[in-house]
This record gives sequence, C-alpha cells and structure tokens, in this order.
Amino acid sequence: MSEQQLYDVLIVGGGPAGMTAGLYAGRANLKVAMIERGMPGGQASTTHLIENFPGVESIDGPTLSMIMHKQAGDFGCEMITAEVEKIENLEGKIKKVITSRGEYLTKTIILTPGAEPKKLGTPGEDELRGRGVSYCATCDGAFFRGKELVVIGGGDSAVEEGIYLTRHASKVTIIHRRDQLRAQKILQDRAFANEKVSFIWDTVVETIAGENKVEKVLLKNTKTGETSEYPCDGAFIYVGMKPNTDFLAGLPILDEAGYIPTNAKMQTKIPGVFAAGDVRDTVLRQVVTATGDGAIAAFYAGHYVELWTEDQE
Ligand code: NAP
Repeated sequence: MSEQQLYDVLIVGGGPAGMTAGLYAGRANLKVAMIERGMPGGQASTTHLIENFPGVESIDGPTLSMIMHKQAGDFGCEMITAEVEKIENLEGKIKKVITSRGEYLTKTIILTPGAEPKKLGTPGEDELRGRGVSYCATCDGAFFRGKELVVIGGGDSAVEEGIYLTRHASKVTIIHRRDQLRAQKILQDRAFANEKVSFIWDTVVETIAGENKVEKVLLKNTKTGETSEYPCDGAFIYVGMKPNTDFLAGLPILDEAGYIPTNAKMQTKIPGVFAAGDVRDTVLRQVVTATGDGAIAAFYAGHYVELWTEDQE
C-alpha cells in the first residue's frame, strides 16, 4: 500500500464494532480499511459462547469473529495488521494515523479499540500470571482439568466464565466483594443451580500466593475484617474492563475514565471522528450493541465523506 493513499474511512480496532463499520462502509463503496493489532474479534473472540446475538442461537466467539471478519473483507474493507501508535491532525481535514507499519491518511476515523480486562492490583497477580492467574477462561480453562479454581468478581464476566470453567475444573469458587451479584439474573440462576459453583461473599482477595504457581489466595472479609487463606490451583480475574485508549492520551475526546463519549450518531467532539463499541461511554457492552454502533458510525462517516468531497470542489 502506498502511504499517500487517502482513505475515506479508517477504522481503528477489529472487534465486532470495527468489523461491522467495515462491512457497512465497504457496502457503501467507501475506501475503507480496518487496522487491528492482533486477532480480529476483540473481547468477543475470547468468549466461549455467545447466545444473545439475535438470530444466532449459540455460537462460539472465535467463529462469530471469523465470519464477521470475512464478511467485512468480502465487501471491500481492507485489513491492516498493525499497532496504532498515535493519531495526528485529528481536528484537520486529512487525519493521519501512525502505526507500527507506517502512516495512513484518511478523511474520517472510526475508533473501535474496545476495552480490556482490568487488573486486580494485588501482590502475586503479575508474578503468577500464566502460572495460574488468568483473565481468559476460554484461553486457559483447559489447563485446569479436575482442578479447583477461584473466580474474582461478581459481574456478567465472572459468573459466565465461572460457569464455563466448570467444564474443566472440579470446583469453581466465585469470590465477590459484596453479598449480591451484579451479573444478569439468568446467569445468576445458572450459577446457583450449578453444583460445581460455590460463592464466598463480602470478601476481597488481598494476595495471590504460590511458589511457582498459584497455590492459594489470601482473603479478607469486608464486613468483619477477618482474614483467611483459601487453597486453589488457579485464579481467574474478572473485575471489569478498561478502555484501550492509551494511544489517544491527551486528545480532547476522552472522558475522565478514558472512554469516548459520543452522540447518537456515534460522533465524538471532533468532526469526522467517530467511536463505536465498548470504548464508548455507554451502559451496555455487548456484541449486539457494538455491531449496532459500528453500523451507525459507518453510516454517518459516509455522510461526512460526502460533504468533505463537496467541500473540496
Ligand atoms: P463489570 O460489569 O464492571 O463487573 C465487575 C465486577 O468486578 C463487579 O461485580 C465488581 O464488584 C467487581 N470488582 C471491581 N473491582 C473489584 C476489585 N478491585 N476487587 C474485587 N471485585 C471488584 O465487568 P464485567 O463483568 O467484565 O462486564 C463488562 C461488561 O461486559 C458489562 O457491561 C457486562 O454486562 C458485559 N458482559 C456481558 C455478557 C453477557 O451479556 N453475556 C458477558 C460478559 C460481559 P461490584 O459489583 O461490587 O461493583
């Protein structure tokens, strides 16, 4: 690709939002490329089972991601594998995306970098990562056949992935800092009905400990202050997400938490710059909402490109 090419739309991030934006922009005959640093699919590609994407009763995340990727490519979305390092001239007419593999010029940008798991921040977490500490049940669950695991967190991810881990583990204990789960009721009901799943309530993990691999977690009851040890072979951490927006640091489109606020047209504060999916300041972060966002962003990016062209004439 020549660096001088001018894209109509550059999409930063290859999760469901980005791939849908690519599909819609491609179908609208826009010159579009999607830049993704790793495997396409984002968080969806690490989800073992997606059963709330309407029309698809049940599908594993990697398969759904591969289909979306192929579909966007088939309609003309160019795929670039590179890490986006920064964006220059964001407020200008021609925006410049600097990546690990060169620079790209574009009339509009759709930001879909998604979000990644937050760290717990306890001693032992980094040291034992990959040796029992994990953030991805789909990736690492199979290493724990017949073992006892703890899952830390009380949201949809903790409960859903905790249930998934019972396929491999002999016992899964979900440790939650309150006495009520944040997860959707349907997931809660499934977890309560699963005899391999148990709960420790009102408790935080203060340390993940072990010689060369996870052997136990040190706990503190948030109500009584009592401390205890709980033996386990692995600790899966699901304490929320953080937006992947480090490469946008200092740009005036981020909120205090690093998410990107948009209006209903997925427009950010800056003309020609759109955001879609989990990186948005939004309440629901699902494949179905990300794809909807991506479609809207591509639609309005197309409008912007039409005006941009007219402007030049
Ligand atoms: P989340 O909804 O933000 O939940 C994070 C959980 O971790 C909460 O229960 C929180 O406790 C707990 N937590 C946070 N910081 C902690 C700390 N330092 N120590 C101990 N516990 C801590 O995150 P998520 O479950 O990863 O979900 C992220 C988004 O993806 C959500 O919008 C979710 O709905 C969506 N999602 C949906 C599905 C699905 O629809 N099937 C599946 C997965 C994820 P508190 O409850 O006390 O705050």
